[in-house]
Amino acid sequence: MFTFSSTQASVNDTQPLDLVAAIQTLKQELNAVILAHYYQEPEIQDIADFIGDSLGLSRQAASTSADVIVFAGVHFMAETAKILNPTKQVLIPDLNAGCSLADSCPPDAFAAFKADHPKHLVISYINCTAEIKAMSDIICTSSNAVELVRQIPQDQPIIFAPDQNLGRYVMAQTGRDMVLWKGSCIVHETFSERRLLELKVEHSSAEIIAHPECEAAILRHADYIGSTTALLNYTQQSSADTFIVATESGILHQMQKQNPLKHYIPAPPTGTCACNECPYMRLNTLEKVYWAMKRRSPEVTVSEQTRIAALKPIQRMLDMSA
Ligand code: SF4
Repeated sequence: MFTFSSTQASVNDTQPLDLVAAIQTLKQELNAVILAHYYQEPEIQDIADFIGDSLGLSRQAASTSADVIVFAGVHFMAETAKILNPTKQVLIPDLNAGCSLADSCPPDAFAAFKADHPKHLVISYINCTAEIKAMSDIICTSSNAVELVRQIPQDQPIIFAPDQNLGRYVMAQTGRDMVLWKGSCIVHETFSERRLLELKVEHSSAEIIAHPECEAAILRHADYIGSTTALLNYTQQSSADTFIVATESGILHQMQKQNPLKHYIPAPPTGTCACNECPYMRLNTLEKVYWAMKRRSPEVTVSEQTRIAALKPIQRMLDMSA
């Protein structure tokens, strides 16, 4: 039986196991690739073959030649990898790593909503379940949502699901009216406008940068709005040396790694909790990555019928955002 400390494990508490080395060995044995979202713990990001946001990870999942994909992220992301790679085994460190936004759009209720708007094209943010993807015409991410909506003819009515904050942001950017599903993410709805402005007074030269899943009250104070990757790139390009970052705080690890001379302050949540950390993403640990590879479980699967239906709108996104 193995027991673990942070990056070490021991056999019967006597033989230490170098967890990082053990994961690397398993990676070779399984011909596995480890994909990690920016919101993962720093130690998981550091062992990943590829770190990215939803769009980057989808592209990576679509092009990998590995036999096994270890998806250090949440369930809908691993499902997307499986949809794109039906013959590969997709492992997730913790099967309970879900998503409040995906959960806010149950398939039955969404089917009824869609039936009420029969002429509408359905554009769904990638943060949704495989069943919702299967009911959609086009999938988008926060990186490409504006660009994709701009490609839709003006006279085509659109349903945008499941994130209402991203939907409102896209409407403001494109001038398009869309019917919004009223879902949201518990992390991006947690930021306090009052505390954000207090922080801005304390650090007057700091730039506020925000993810479009944040509420409009936060976005209106942002110097820059973009996807997780866009925020990361912006901190490199901007001449500012301090940033107040309104998205899941896991991204600060890559920001610090890429430019350690700048300062990054996580935007404050309303309470004193660590609510700006996604509780689902943080279920994954390095130990669970190891065990998932060792046991080849938990595995993420999608029924073939749902997979085929969900693949079309994902493929359309990849084609339209090429
Ligand atoms: S940060 Fe929000 S949208 Fe992202 S996985 Fe967590 S709950 Fe879902």
